[in-house]
Amino acid sequence: MKQITLFTIFLLVLSYSQSQAFLSSPFRGDYSLLATFDHEYPIYNPDSQGAILSYWGEQIMLAYDGHKGYDWALPNGTAIYAAATGIVTFAGSTKATICPSENRRIAGGVLIEIEHSINNTEYLTSYLHLERVLVTEGARVSKGQIIGYSGQTGTCVGPHLHFETDKLVSGRWIAVDPYGWQASFNDPWQLHPEGTASSNLWQQDQAPKLYRESKYNINQYNIPIVVKKIRSIGVFDNLYPNNEFFEIEIPSKYRRSFVDLTGYSINNNFGELFRFNDGARLESNQTLRIYSGYGNNNGNTLYWNSPKELWGNSGFCLTIRDNFQQVIGTYRHKMPKTACN
Ligand SMILES: [Zn+2]
Repeated sequence: MKQITLFTIFLLVLSYSQSQAFLSSPFRGDYSLLATFDHEYPIYNPDSQGAILSYWGEQIMLAYDGHKGYDWALPNGTAIYAAATGIVTFAGSTKATICPSENRRIAGGVLIEIEHSINNTEYLTSYLHLERVLVTEGARVSKGQIIGYSGQTGTCVGPHLHFETDKLVSGRWIAVDPYGWQASFNDPWQLHPEGTASSNLWQQDQAPKLYRESKYNINQYNIPIVVKKIRSIGVFDNLYPNNEFFEIEIPSKYRRSFVDLTGYSINNNFGELFRFNDGARLESNQTLRIYSGYGNNNGNTLYWNSPKELWGNSGFCLTIRDNFQQVIGTYRHKMPKTACN
């Protein structure tokens, strides 16, 4: 029995040492998500769903369909780090191409590709839409080394980083999801003839957070309360609705020391209603955060008490009504199929 135990430990150590989790975050800090890897399917744009199938199994409407990587809203000039030690195989501008599905020219963007050899498996990490590169082809880079700065070169609607991971399978690079696959059904990309299985490639505490956040310029309004930001998509927010929240403040133009929120209410796109408790107050220097799910209200935090996600995954609309039931604010995120009730 002792031998079996030792052998089991040996296998555990072996499997740990062969773990493919080799990536560290390509940037520092947290930024709103613009697109995830589309498990159905990363090579088609668009597919029949018209949405991205996330690694946790939800169809989400983000920037576009058929996406091979992750897009985060990094401002121009944000430092980009090598996600792992490897050899730079491309650094510079890509050629302009024609996108067949859209029959239009796609501008070339500034790209870095790094090849990594991990336990006899070859991986490629790609960093696209950069403003500037600091490395050259053939150079060996170390994990965590600054390789360039983010930008909005190529086909972009705004500044962001596109980060992609490919795996060499039978001599062919295949896009894989670095977050793996965690849904309760089979991964369509693994079953696809041109696809392969994805596994979590992030080292512990290195995976960038995934959330969709919209911010609003609040101080232009002369009304009692405004929404400052809405976090509308988080990982498994259908199971953990507190991944979502929004924040309200009194805009400085309104010039009141507080607002009595009695009678004020908020609607989501499904017509569900949140009513502030009688006597609830918002102070002029306060940010009040309202989470979607359950919890104990306190000082700067309230809970909507919804058992599920409040905003869905196809965009959101949030409407504030005052104590006369007059709409004083409507906030939406322009994703496809977003409707306001
Ligand atoms: Zn992208």
